[in-house]
Amino acid sequence: MKIYELPDALSNKIAAGEVVERPASVVKELVENSIDAESTWIKVEVKEAGLESIKVVDNGRGMDEEDISKAFLRHATSKIKNEIDLFHVKTLGFRGEALASIASVSKLTIKSSEGNHAGTSLYIEGGTIKQTTKTDARQGTEIKVDELFYNTPARLKYMKTIHTELGHITETMYRLAMAHPDIRFEVVHNDKVLLQTTGDGDLLHVLAKIYGMNIVRKMLKIEAESLDFKLTGFVAKPEITRASRNYMSVIINGRYIKSIAINQAILRAYHTLLPIGRLPLTVLNIEMDPILIDVNVHPTKLEVRFSKEKELIELVEKTIRDVFRNTALIPSLESKEPVQDNPPKQSEQPSFELNRSDFVKVNETNTNPNIPEHVAYEDVEDSIEVADLAHIEKSEPAHDMNIHEHTADRIPPLYPIGQLQGTYIMAQNENGLYMIDQHAAQERIKYEYFKEKLGQTDKTLQELLIPITFEFTSREMDCIEQHKEELESVGIFFEHFGQKACIVRSQPTWFPKNQEAEIIREIVDTVLNEKAISIQKIREDAAILMSCKRSIKANHYLNLEDMNILLDDLRKTVDPFTCPHGRPIIVHFSTYELEKMFKRIM
Ligand code: ADP
Ligand code: MG
Repeated sequence: MKIYELPDALSNKIAAGEVVERPASVVKELVENSIDAESTWIKVEVKEAGLESIKVVDNGRGMDEEDISKAFLRHATSKIKNEIDLFHVKTLGFRGEALASIASVSKLTIKSSEGNHAGTSLYIEGGTIKQTTKTDARQGTEIKVDELFYNTPARLKYMKTIHTELGHITETMYRLAMAHPDIRFEVVHNDKVLLQTTGDGDLLHVLAKIYGMNIVRKMLKIEAESLDFKLTGFVAKPEITRASRNYMSVIINGRYIKSIAINQAILRAYHTLLPIGRLPLTVLNIEMDPILIDVNVHPTKLEVRFSKEKELIELVEKTIRDVFRNTALIPSLESKEPVQDNPPKQSEQPSFELNRSDFVKVNETNTNPNIPEHVAYEDVEDSIEVADLAHIEKSEPAHDMNIHEHTADRIPPLYPIGQLQGTYIMAQNENGLYMIDQHAAQERIKYEYFKEKLGQTDKTLQELLIPITFEFTSREMDCIEQHKEELESVGIFFEHFGQKACIVRSQPTWFPKNQEAEIIREIVDTVLNEKAISIQKIREDAAILMSCKRSIKANHYLNLEDMNILLDDLRKTVDPFTCPHGRPIIVHFSTYELEKMFKRIM
């Protein structure tokens, strides 16, 4: 056996396998370099989803002749010098691998100048410099990557359809644009503009370009600061949901990252506000001392490690939760202009489904062409500031003590008028007409009632008139024995009754009556099905279960008195807007809306 040191060209190709997975990775690396070079304008032009060519032009610092030739060496970087720097990285790049890798698997042309004298241009083929020439002195850098993977046929074969690759590029650019609202981005594919931001520093304006006005109008601003972290961003009202996690964006120190822990904190904050299986649309921007974050975990730097993760996720959860507590979340009908002015392209239904690959479609047809800039931006300000920020600003921090007072403000007093189809309560006040799903409302009320009861430590039990017996297999008996404490925490007190049966003789007074056996069996089933169930989780499941069982179903007649009581109880809940399964409870038709519908106003 003999050991050889690999020639540079080969080791660069190997590294390229990690860093340059597909055209979108080239776009990401080049644009990140432009950002690191302090550009304020970056243009990305791709042909055939980057498989034909990718060109990135910036107005950044630029490089002189000496630096240009070094930039393509493996592990050559201007961003860190030593180990100490590695733990204080403020730039997006620092590994010094990208340019060397990209150049080794493409035909690359670079032009760059620092602006004070003629620039330098290199042509590199498969990692070998073929030509060096002088070029103009425009300050900035232009890199064009042709025929990516021309010399790595296996990788080329792995490329998916143009549609998929372009989807990845668009997504990459969305992420970069969200992370840098202060940079003006232009993204063009086959001469068609995919994204164009203004670089005015306002994240909301970037989101309008990406997601469209109808979404942005329903986003709530968040802002918080702790000793170590500064958190800003926007979270969509729970009526806007998605099937994919791709709409939960997290940016840390200008870098888009993926963090399961942060996503979970966001989901906990939305809690029962979201329908089961649906995910929210959020953009969080977190700033922290770089010493608290390790970005050198993954070659593409998408995953990172934090030293104060617990503090961070607590801040995230609390901040988002507080925004919801202090905001009226009643969905109202959009005031729709006459149909011809509002083509279907623009109408984004709350449950409208978008996939990764739809990104492209969305952008081409759904956002920028339809938004006349001046109008759109005024709109953003109007709706967000007046409607939503007003709520946030006027309210003091939500301490648990005053939740109820707050909630009372969030749903104004409502006066029932009648019932529709035995299912919806119609109610009014000076703001217009409200429709309330009576079943969903009662579920919410009961859910919060049981949740509170389940959390109490009072163990006063009441004898059942007729004890209830349950049969189990011996495996189930074992499991029940193991989870005795969890079961008791939700009011189920089993006694063994022979080898394969348990008996319930008494229960807390609040335990739902009449359907005891069914409820106990269902709670036990959740314990049997989930191996590790926490007290918190079982309480949550039990509260949801109990609330469904006891609620008035649809098609149930209510008189005005019943309706009044239900509405009052609803106003006292912490989350009066959605049932525990995340379905809306109340919708609003404003007086303005009604007058418009009847053309009393134009
Ligand atoms: P890294 O970004 O990790 O330093 P790269 O291989 O991506 O490594 O880039 C190598 C070096 O080339 C960078 O450190 C930077 O000095 C220089 N460079 C790359 N792109 C640009 C650019 N657009 N403008 C100015 N300098 C650049
Ligand atoms: Mg780089």
